[in-house]
Amino acid sequence: MMTTEHFAALSFVARMGTRKKVHAFVRVKPTDNFPHEMIRYGDDNKSIDILLKKDTRRGVVNNQQTDWSFKLDGVLHDASQDLVYETVAKDVVSQALDGYNGTIMCYGQTGAGKTYTMTGATENYKHRGILPRALQQVFRMIEERTTHAITVRVSYLEIYNESLFDLLSTLPYVGPSATPMTIVENPQGVFIKGLSVHLTSQEEDAFSLLFEGETNRVIASHTMNKNSSRSHCIFTIYVESHSRTLSDEKYITSKINLVDLAGSERLGKTGSEGRVLKEATYINKSLSFLEQAIIALGDQKRDHIPFRQCKLTHALKDSLGGNCNMVLVTNIYGEAAQLEETLSSLRFASRMKLVTTEPAINEKYDAERMVKNLEKELALLKQELAIHDSLANRTLVNYDPMDEVQIAEINSQVRRYLEGTLDEIDIINLRQIQEVFNQFRVVLSQQEQEIESALRRKYTLIDKNDFAAISAVQKAGLADVNGHLVGEPDGQGFGLGVIPFSFKPGKKIKSKKTFKDQLSIPVRKEGASSPLSTKELDISPSKTQLILPPRDGDVKDMRDRETSSTEPFPSDSPKEELRPPRPSTPPSKPVAFEDFKNERGSEINRIFKENKSILNERRKRASETTQRINAIKQEIDTTKEALNVQKALREKQGEYENKGLMIIDEEEFLLILKLKDLKKQYRAEYQDLRDLRAEIQYCQHLVDQCRHRLLTEFDIWYNESFFIPEDLQVALKSGCSIRPGMVPINRVVSLGEDDQDKFSQLQQTMLPEGPESVSFYNAKVKTEQKHNYLKAITGLQQVNKK
Ligand code: ADP
Ligand code: MG
Repeated sequence: MMTTEHFAALSFVARMGTRKKVHAFVRVKPTDNFPHEMIRYGDDNKSIDILLKKDTRRGVVNNQQTDWSFKLDGVLHDASQDLVYETVAKDVVSQALDGYNGTIMCYGQTGAGKTYTMTGATENYKHRGILPRALQQVFRMIEERTTHAITVRVSYLEIYNESLFDLLSTLPYVGPSATPMTIVENPQGVFIKGLSVHLTSQEEDAFSLLFEGETNRVIASHTMNKNSSRSHCIFTIYVESHSRTLSDEKYITSKINLVDLAGSERLGKTGSEGRVLKEATYINKSLSFLEQAIIALGDQKRDHIPFRQCKLTHALKDSLGGNCNMVLVTNIYGEAAQLEETLSSLRFASRMKLVTTEPAINEKYDAERMVKNLEKELALLKQELAIHDSLANRTLVNYDPMDEVQIAEINSQVRRYLEGTLDEIDIINLRQIQEVFNQFRVVLSQQEQEIESALRRKYTLIDKNDFAAISAVQKAGLADVNGHLVGEPDGQGFGLGVIPFSFKPGKKIKSKKTFKDQLSIPVRKEGASSPLSTKELDISPSKTQLILPPRDGDVKDMRDRETSSTEPFPSDSPKEELRPPRPSTPPSKPVAFEDFKNERGSEINRIFKENKSILNERRKRASETTQRINAIKQEIDTTKEALNVQKALREKQGEYENKGLMIIDEEEFLLILKLKDLKKQYRAEYQDLRDLRAEIQYCQHLVDQCRHRLLTEFDIWYNESFFIPEDLQVALKSGCSIRPGMVPINRVVSLGEDDQDKFSQLQQTMLPEGPESVSFYNAKVKTEQKHNYLKAITGLQQVNKK
């Protein structure tokens, strides 16, 4: 057993595009005294005329229309159950197995034969109605249709006084529902939540269920004091048909609703009161709602159908009109006394005939089969690929998703390709190509980040929207009035606090410092301990070769060489030997500096001068290039303007077009060429400028380094030459690599005295212990000296900081 809600699946309705009218039949209940003068059938057996004598029912139909003619799809008079089934139901049931929903309804006043038509006389096989016959037909067709696995389920619902009853809930394995049933709508359609739906594998089971339901219908009417003629009963057969060909993932579903409506007689006639009145009201209400829905369905202009006004229409929402095959059987009495109700029933039938439906197959997709089929296809395609590969002599290409190792390998390939160490990346398959692109993106974004953080480490970045910063840059002469950085006329690139290289003539170095301070770039304290201004170090440029100054790491080597060697300086600084005797009063620092540059500092000074001249030369070139760029930019602007004038002129004079080609005169053409050329020049110059800037930056760094070195060396030399006593220098040099000139004079002097004192003290106290104690003392002195040296260095650093 399962409930209708289990029928959710991928589904759609295959529209056939053919509209169809509802088939409406009239079945006349046999009678001994058929009023031939009042009810007449047409020769085609489809029309029925009702004729009333004016005086037949005086006061009621007086002065009203007395003749009615109804054209239906068939009149079933004295028709056997067999014939009724053939005429009414056979096609609907047959099409249900092809996926079309079907609805057959019996309408009419109580006793007119609705139940007889729908269920039939259960005690007589020959008189069985549509229900058992439909079940029989379904099972017979299933047997014939060996290509399909078809399942059948049934449910039996009764609607009484707007309450829903499951007529099959008494079955031992169902039990009464704990929660009341509700009508639920979902994309698949309407279903009754809580209504039991029973799988029936054979005809006999289906019959048992039908009888069970019929019995319950009768019992319920007694025990619950129901008037069975006031209830609607809906027997539903659910069909689901899967192809036995497993590759077919489509399957179809359909349902046949067999509806035995409540009696349609009107309230006035029975004169019911109390409970009966309430029932009658309900019946009339739900049947009149059904009628309203039918009228709305028959009206092509109506797009809203009031299905939800009562349980009956709501439960039948997807079974009325829509994509269903719909049949109405109107049961009437063939008796004069019932003519009024007969008329009303026939009116309902003719209204029903106006309803059009668009029967369509309910196709669904079996997700599980779909997956299986796709898996099969995938396997097949992989085999196919393998064959292609082997035919193309490609060995064992793997088409599976890549693992981390493979992705890492592609990443490395991409990196090598970008570095230029890998010439090309072989194409293997689509997945690999996609991964290569993906890794390009990964590498690119990493590099962007690296570049940015490198720039941030080196420069202060200015937000181009930060006007305060821009104006600071302008003040420093680095940006033009438009906020463009000089040398960056296209506004591209980073807004950088670049090392200035294009000072306006006359700008002093002071302004550079101001600029640097504003941008909070740490400025090297060049020449801080020297009385000389940087300007005095400027030397006329001439050379082009870049020379690396001794780097900080190299300094120690130089010192070692200088200090550990007692030999004269190598031939590249021969002046060391010729050092004049120390004067009694030291010369002023500027004078001494000139001497230093010619003597000990000559080599560093030479390097410094050369670098400086290269720097100046590059700066000059950069400035020239910037000027050229600006000139080109100006020319671009004027050319553009001229072009616009030409264009405007052309537009004014009317354009010529030839086969979609614009015709322009020679002048305009030349301007276009010129513009193109200018842009090319512009780009080339701009590239040059960028290269120059990089060079300038590097040179500046070298110059700064040289200057620092020159000044430091000068200070050391100055101290050594004029202040530190020569014997002290020798003493200090002997133990370690200390250079006396590096130590501040006062420290050196006191250090010397301290050391001497200590040494003599040690000699006095320790030496008597014997000559073997010498190494001990030596070690002791060395340690002391080292300790003092470290202290001196720290002191020196503090002095430099100040
Ligand atoms: P309804 O369901 O419309 O109230 P029923 O189907 O119960 O009417 O019919 C009332 C009675 O008339 C039943 O006893 C039924 O057997 C009988 N009857 C109805 N239609 C026919 C018919 N076409 N042939 C023979 N008996 C009929
Ligand atoms: Mg009935």
